[in-house]
Amino acid sequence: METRVIINIKGVVQGVGFRPYIYALAREHNLSGFVLNNTEGVYIEAEGSNDDINDFLIAVKDKKLPQAVIFDIQYDQTDPAGYKQFDIRKSEHRDVKSVPISRDLATCTDCLSELFDPADRRYGYPFINCTNCGPRFTIVKDVPYDRRNTTMSEFVMCDQCSGEYEDPSDRRFHAQPNACDICGPKLSLLDKEGEAMPVDDVITGAARLLTEGYIVALKGLGGFHLACDATNQEAVSNLRARKYREYKPFAIMVNNAEAAGQLCEMNQEEEDVLTGIQRPIVLLKKRAVNVIVEDIAPNQQYLGVLLPYSPLHHLLLEKSGLVLVMTSANISAEPIVYKDADAVDRLRNIADFFIVHNREIHIRTDDSVCRIWQGKEMLLRRSRGLTPHPLLMKKECSAHILACGADLKNVFCLTRGNQVYMSHHIGDLDNVETLTSFEKSISHFKGKFDIKPDLVAYDLHPKYVSSKYARALDNVRKIGIQHHFAHIVSCMADNEIEEKVIGIAFDGTGFGADGNIWGGEFLLCDYNHFERLAHLEYFPIPGGDHAVVEPWRIALSLLFRIYGNHMMKLNIDFINQLDTDKVMIIKHMTEKNINLSWTSSMGRLFDIVSALTGVRREIYYEGQAAIELEMIADPDESGVYNYNLKDSEGRKEIMIADLIKDIIADIKSGTDRKTISAKFHNTVAGMVLDMSIFIRESKGINSVALSGGVFQNMFLLDRVHRLLTDNGFNFYTHHRVPTNDGGIALGQAVIADALVELLMK
Ligand code: ZN
Ligand code: ZN
Ligand code: FE
Repeated sequence: METRVIINIKGVVQGVGFRPYIYALAREHNLSGFVLNNTEGVYIEAEGSNDDINDFLIAVKDKKLPQAVIFDIQYDQTDPAGYKQFDIRKSEHRDVKSVPISRDLATCTDCLSELFDPADRRYGYPFINCTNCGPRFTIVKDVPYDRRNTTMSEFVMCDQCSGEYEDPSDRRFHAQPNACDICGPKLSLLDKEGEAMPVDDVITGAARLLTEGYIVALKGLGGFHLACDATNQEAVSNLRARKYREYKPFAIMVNNAEAAGQLCEMNQEEEDVLTGIQRPIVLLKKRAVNVIVEDIAPNQQYLGVLLPYSPLHHLLLEKSGLVLVMTSANISAEPIVYKDADAVDRLRNIADFFIVHNREIHIRTDDSVCRIWQGKEMLLRRSRGLTPHPLLMKKECSAHILACGADLKNVFCLTRGNQVYMSHHIGDLDNVETLTSFEKSISHFKGKFDIKPDLVAYDLHPKYVSSKYARALDNVRKIGIQHHFAHIVSCMADNEIEEKVIGIAFDGTGFGADGNIWGGEFLLCDYNHFERLAHLEYFPIPGGDHAVVEPWRIALSLLFRIYGNHMMKLNIDFINQLDTDKVMIIKHMTEKNINLSWTSSMGRLFDIVSALTGVRREIYYEGQAAIELEMIADPDESGVYNYNLKDSEGRKEIMIADLIKDIIADIKSGTDRKTISAKFHNTVAGMVLDMSIFIRESKGINSVALSGGVFQNMFLLDRVHRLLTDNGFNFYTHHRVPTNDGGIALGQAVIADALVELLMK
């Protein structure tokens, strides 16, 4: 029996090689008919035997094309039309704005073999791409995704390129960034003054400079990177000194998985993600013997590693044969530099040379960062290679929602139907540049995805600029959402669970419903409600933000709360090594309650222990004290410290005085830091279990969702996971969005939707 099937597919299916893929599938199944792009997505008519059609439908649904995302497939069966063969037909008129834009795609293997084939006309051409690979999101100015709406619009294709572009059987058919050496963008090598260097070949010249130890800024897909030889101590030290970045780890780029395996331990899942189309930075366990400079990731067990994802990277790594430091080019907290003129202007005190080109980046996008945990990818930063593909939810949102995120690691999101468009990583909203980027990106996303928010969700923090932005909007409904509630619901939505959970939110800072700073929270949560059932006791933060970068202040203040004047007689290095004047100031502030804020933050408790044990008293990047404490923890240590519980107004407070006293006793008895660190981690994991059991017994809830930046701590996460699963809990943590504040917007959106639904009832 012959039959014809008519298929409509919606999703990220244009500009990603979807038609050639369908073409090949149809031929494989002996079908005739055609495929084309239309205003909605992709339209297919295919006919053949019933069996072949069935197999074809299964294969389409089971799509093995990682760069495409299908939101919806509809199909109808009808009588055959008598097609003779299978064709790719020209697109039907497109003026609807709703076809989603693809993320940026790493160079494909077909393009790579051309790139390194001396006989190919694109041999060594650093902008080679096709329908399966190349820039997308970062070059799109407007929709629909056509060349005229990208930063490629100013390049007129030569005859050969336009021939490929027009030919449905060519793998560059409608590849919008299609170009070659004759008609396309070109590289130049500039010196510090922005003057072009007289070189025959930019790549060869730049490779030589890198080999000689210079720092080169190069333009990638989403912005500039600073690169230098990762085995050259002087080059790395220079980069650190010039970037004023004493400790924060740099990522490195290696040519292939094999090279990564020489530097780091790597399992199959890690290799798959490292070599996959998204090309994130993957955190891998550093090997003890290593050619790269220790300074690249000081005091770390992990290295951020990524493989080349643009032809320029491939050429540079191949030509130089180096392992390269590859770090975002920005000045301290400002966003990544992405315009040529800006690059020379802002980076001339850091970079010695610049590789620039005349294909403009329209929207800056940092590299994504992830790790593999329990065989699953866990995103720490969701950006280039993932943005702007939407997350698909089970449930449709009733309104178009804008969720503004938090002020640290800002990511906002917009929703339409069951699609959640998470923005690229915007950064910390503490300077004008980032704030501008936040506002511009919101309007860019609204336009690109044709979303007109009628509901806006924001964090309750009175000083967040993201919240100020939200509150200033006109003609929209606005909902403020508690930070840790958003964290937990983000984790629930990430895992697509809707049942009530025990939500455990551990982070550095979040504005609490009582006006204090929360961060060690045990919440009973569903999408529209939370109840705070337990938390760390409040302890003082003397002097606000300053104390966060100087954890010794918080540690000292806590010691005074616990020991009073006896603190001075403790005779521990932590106090003995501090300046007496400073000690007196903190003591005075604590005693007289001057300029103290109060927090239940688990992140700060890690900072305190890090400071007390002498691991880190002041920090140079966010989370440093806690990270360095984690890195030294002895995995074989199973001891724990004491802590107490106090009942207050039906809530449990976790009292930490005994914990601190135990740690001080260990310090005084000369116990080593790796033991103290491990015992502390074990204790926190124990708190998680104890509170989960307490809530299960009183509320009958058996699922635990973890969220917050503290759960980037693998030593802790491993232990919490083991304790909870051993005790029969359902365990949920983040995968698709970060556990840190970069995942908050998702929770805000889902809560806002649920609250509005509740109001409508
Ligand atoms: Zn390609
Ligand atoms: Zn050309
Ligand atoms: Fe947070």
